Amino acid sequence: MSASAHPDVMDKLVSLCKRRGFIFQSSEIYGGTGSVWDYGPLGVELKKNLKELWWTSMVRLRDDVEGLDAAILMHPKTWEASGHVAGFTDPLVDCKTCKGRFRADKLEDARCPQKPSRIPGQHDACQLTEPRMFNLMFRTFMGPVEESASTVYLRPETAQGIFVNFLNVQQSCRQKVPFGIAQIGKAFRNEITPGNFIFRTREFEQMEMQFFVEPGTDMEHFERWKADRMAWHQSLGLSADRLQYHQHDAGELAHYARAAFDITFDFGGTLGFQEIEGIHNRGDFDLSQHQQYSGKKLEYFDQQANKRYVPYVIETSVGADRTTLAALVNGYREESVAGEDEGRVVLGLHPALAPIKAAVFPLTKKDGQPEMATKLADELRRAFNADYDETGSIGKRYRRQDEVGTPYCVTIDSESANDQSVTIRERDSLAQVRVSMEQVRGWVQERISA
Ligand code: ATP
Repeated sequence: MSASAHPDVMDKLVSLCKRRGFIFQSSEIYGGTGSVWDYGPLGVELKKNLKELWWTSMVRLRDDVEGLDAAILMHPKTWEASGHVAGFTDPLVDCKTCKGRFRADKLEDARCPQKPSRIPGQHDACQLTEPRMFNLMFRTFMGPVEESASTVYLRPETAQGIFVNFLNVQQSCRQKVPFGIAQIGKAFRNEITPGNFIFRTREFEQMEMQFFVEPGTDMEHFERWKADRMAWHQSLGLSADRLQYHQHDAGELAHYARAAFDITFDFGGTLGFQEIEGIHNRGDFDLSQHQQYSGKKLEYFDQQANKRYVPYVIETSVGADRTTLAALVNGYREESVAGEDEGRVVLGLHPALAPIKAAVFPLTKKDGQPEMATKLADELRRAFNADYDETGSIGKRYRRQDEVGTPYCVTIDSESANDQSVTIRERDSLAQVRVSMEQVRGWVQERISA
């Protein structure tokens, strides 16, 4: 993918995320687990907000999509039917010199550990092996006996839980085709070259939706979902100039796929535009495969037309972690502030994504201001995530909140006791308005929805 005009902010973000409690390396005290990350107090709020926005737009606001939460461990035959046992592989090469391991099809994205200005294979000392295929599924055993008959897999995608429940959901909800099933859940892939922080990890969350349609109507649904999903990313505040479609050409297209587009986001620096979501027209591949492997019919009966068929599937598949990273990259900026020597770091997150919606400060620790501010913060907490901070100068407190993306800071001052009002300062414009104390909750709430 192409390099970007936007700067590379990844190192700064990794350090901000650790310092401010967004994201920590997993098991850090033991030296870390390779490409697995833990979400800290602010990160869990951010990712939760993102997932809720997806769930609201994909499930709650739609009559034609139902929710599901299928188990991670599935019958092992699922993965034979889906093609993952035979084909969910990446070509892997080893370097005999540096012992590095790389994806043969993504060498251009990797760096030679001994000569980082070159890609693996380009340095004189590199000795790459022939590529060999490596299955990305994590394997474990169900029950006490560790033998091949009890092998199960940690799911590498959430989609299969939806396919195997197609009839359960359709019949229990009396849905008519076209309709969809959506779920959010963990997926696991033993990636060969993970990295770039939470961009490519071995444990991650997907938000997937499979939309079941009558064959022949599939391309019109595909086009609609393609447009809807792009609009959703823009509604999160991701800049339009950082979002693009990437069409899979014949070489990239899975053999069963009738059409596929990625939505790519420009992560800046050398990473540039990368996939954050895939929209796929999968035809009847998945349901037909599960019919064949399970011996159970997975057909839909259209009563009006009096016909039976296996529906085609339009899939939208987006990574919760990768989109969280896109929101962080998109929002990160350093800027100078008029009249102040020190600049500020701002996470310009959409207010609906921001982990803290409002922070309440007493201007001083006197005159009952902390008590009033605490009371207000407690009231706000009933409606959304709010913070209370009384330490340091007001300028420092603003900076702390800017850096984690808090859209509104509310200050109680010496006038507040008399006029029952407070000052609200907006993160991006720095504009300040005076608002009556009893209206603060509604005022903020109006401005934080997507
Ligand atoms: P890639 O080409 O980057 O490996 P993919 O085409 O295999 O991705 P899909 O199987 O289509 O990805 O998965 C859908 C979405 O899940 C991706 O767009 C991405 O947001 C997310 N995703 C996939 N693999 C990972 C991973 N290892 N870490 C984090 N997110 C992932």
